[in-house]
Amino acid sequence: MLTITQVAGFAGAGLAGAAYVPQITHLIRARCSAGVSRLAFEIWLLASLLVAARAIAIHAGVFIVLSGIQVAATTLIMFYAARYKDARCPIHPPRQPRAKMTTKAAGTTTAAHEELAAAASGGTAGAGAAIVIVCREPGVREILHRELSKRYGADYQIVVCDRSAGLAPCMRDLLSAGLPVALVIGEVGAQDPDSVEVLAAVRAIDPTAPRVAVVRWGDWESMRSVFDAVTLGKIDHWVTRPSRSPAEEFHRSITEFLMEWGSQRGGGGFEAAQVVGERWSARSQELRDLFFRNRVPAGFYDAASGHGRQILRELGLESPELPVVVLRFGTDRPALVNPSNLEIADAIGVMRPIAAGEIFDVAVVGAGPAGLAAAVYASSEGLRTVVVEHEAIAGQAGTSSMIRNYPGFSQGITGAQLAQETWQQAWTFGTTFVYMRRAESLSRIDGHYRLRLSDGRVLITRTVIIATGAAYRRLGIPHLEHLQGRGVFYGAAVSEAPAMRGRNVFVAGAGNSAGQTALHLAKWASRVTVLVRAPSLAGSMSDYLIRQIGATPNVDVCYRVQVVDGTGTGGLESLVLEDTPSGTRRSVPADALFVLIGSQPRTQWLGEAVARDQLGFIRTGPDLPPDTGSGWPPGRQPLPMETSLPGVFAAGDVRRGSVKRVASAVGEGAATIPLVHRHLHSTAAVPARRRAVPPPPGSAPAAGIQAAAR
Ligand SMILES: Cc1cc2nc3c(=O)[nH]c(=O)nc-3n(C[C@H](O)[C@H](O)[C@H](O)COP(=O)(O)OP(=O)(O)OC[C@H]3O[C@@H](n4cnc5c(N)ncnc54)[C@H](O)[C@@H]3O)c2cc1C
Repeated sequence: MLTITQVAGFAGAGLAGAAYVPQITHLIRARCSAGVSRLAFEIWLLASLLVAARAIAIHAGVFIVLSGIQVAATTLIMFYAARYKDARCPIHPPRQPRAKMTTKAAGTTTAAHEELAAAASGGTAGAGAAIVIVCREPGVREILHRELSKRYGADYQIVVCDRSAGLAPCMRDLLSAGLPVALVIGEVGAQDPDSVEVLAAVRAIDPTAPRVAVVRWGDWESMRSVFDAVTLGKIDHWVTRPSRSPAEEFHRSITEFLMEWGSQRGGGGFEAAQVVGERWSARSQELRDLFFRNRVPAGFYDAASGHGRQILRELGLESPELPVVVLRFGTDRPALVNPSNLEIADAIGVMRPIAAGEIFDVAVVGAGPAGLAAAVYASSEGLRTVVVEHEAIAGQAGTSSMIRNYPGFSQGITGAQLAQETWQQAWTFGTTFVYMRRAESLSRIDGHYRLRLSDGRVLITRTVIIATGAAYRRLGIPHLEHLQGRGVFYGAAVSEAPAMRGRNVFVAGAGNSAGQTALHLAKWASRVTVLVRAPSLAGSMSDYLIRQIGATPNVDVCYRVQVVDGTGTGGLESLVLEDTPSGTRRSVPADALFVLIGSQPRTQWLGEAVARDQLGFIRTGPDLPPDTGSGWPPGRQPLPMETSLPGVFAAGDVRRGSVKRVASAVGEGAATIPLVHRHLHSTAAVPARRRAVPPPPGSAPAAGIQAAAR
């Protein structure tokens, strides 16, 4: 019979052993030497205590047996630890000599602290930024750590945080150790039910750190919550959890996120241009924006800073007119004092010279999505093509930080990136680009069109595609502009509607588009409030829509009110509304604001050259006035996207009746090219040649500058 003491002893030993099972399993699976060393010590200590206790309590024979077991177990464990001494484990990283850095991070995991200490002491040589994994589930942590360390370990410090409470102090410590966070990644799933909120909270700590949710393939429920969180700006991206190595799809996404972070952060890498100017001057801001949107890697230096002064000193410039732009590639490396955009474009040397009298088959005005798509198709089909752009490639799309509804990009794509790829494609096919020049007039002489540009140059062309777009009327409220895409949306944003489930949503606008959007949103949102400046909708919205709105219980209309401000850090939190007659203001909680207050076509430069509607949008094809045919070749009717001038087409937002979307602008741009061919054949002006002329030496593309300089 066993005594009570013996039963208690066996039960205690069993429980203690069971407590070690998960840890031992992990150590074996993870080949974790550091963990094994710790465990070995713990077991040795425990066994010693047991042995001593038993020896005292029982007799010497047992003592010898237990000692033997203890020695065997310790030897085995030490052998295991020695064998895997170089293996890295996400949960038990090898102990590093502690750096002098002190961490304030109460609650941060040991692992994170040790990684931090290693980073601060140069443990990850070359790491200029950190990737933070935040995840409760040990298995997932392990997978993420393994995958990320393998691919990015040389350039990034991979930090693991196993408790959400530790994330904020861990990130703060990284930042104070001079390591910006390039990515915070965590799994969203049943094991981590609050992880969306954990990732959302990252915005308050470091608004530039992209937040990436990892979702297990097949976990549809979590995916839905992730999609909603992306729409509401709580997280930035999602990826499917890697299930086997090599996990190329996972890494392709991670690389893109890191690239995006790097390009938005700017600085630190190669600078093709340096701008020295006053930090808060409008011109400095314009130049930063132009370089950024044209994808020229540029660094900005405040003229009052030590570095700014040093650059000017080295150039021998004392109190120059600001800003100064230094180009740091090619042989000349000129320093331009307070240059115009035109001078900068010329100095960059990206444009090929256009010979006097050169005749193009097609001239595209505007390098937004429509113009770029037209250029790709035109030049790929052998048409001699020129594109004129007066600001930056990408047009309005370039101002969109993330286009989520362009087919083929499930993670979304920045407008700038999309345009960059299309621009490069057009350039490869032989399109000639004329930058920083505005088309100022269009005329027809001797059967050819003439485009007069803002630098006085005239382009001669057989056909013209007008793709000058439209500018969405903006609210112009800084707090809300800052939240665009994170609760503030321009346009109908139909794709965002399902994420509005159960939310309090506002629509600013009084037109049909605002009405349709409100009704669409009402299917998901708990409440939709339409904000109208006028005292009624009757003058701006169709009657059927007004009645439908009246019959929909969760749609309200607020008259004589306008949005004047808003708040929110990670996403929109509240709006400030002004009662227009009285000027009184009130703050209301808001989850999202959809702005549909109209757009303005960029067609003023055309004067009376082509027929437009009263708002300035270009009429085309069947939309043209019936008398358009006069002066046209006999029997020739305007083609679908042809304007009132034969051989002049309009594509994208500038065209009356167009759908204001990137994909439709691209589609229209592409669709004009068969019409251009038809026009050229009807006038017997067969395209000049099939072109595959490389650009002249020295005319490196903006995007190529970086590569060339490496
Ligand atoms: C902030 C924002 C976010 C958006 N987000 C989305 C989205 O997520 N999804 C979506 O589908 N759509 C989105 N849109 C709409 C989309 O960007 C437009 O529908 C699309 O860009 C229209 O393309 P476009 O080529 O017709 O015109 P634009 O993009 O407007 O391009 C016109 C170009 O012509 C140039 N130009 C104008 N006049 C002249 C001239 N006289 N000489 C030379 N060049 C000239 C301009 O500089 C510009 O680069 C967004 C728009 C904005 C403003």
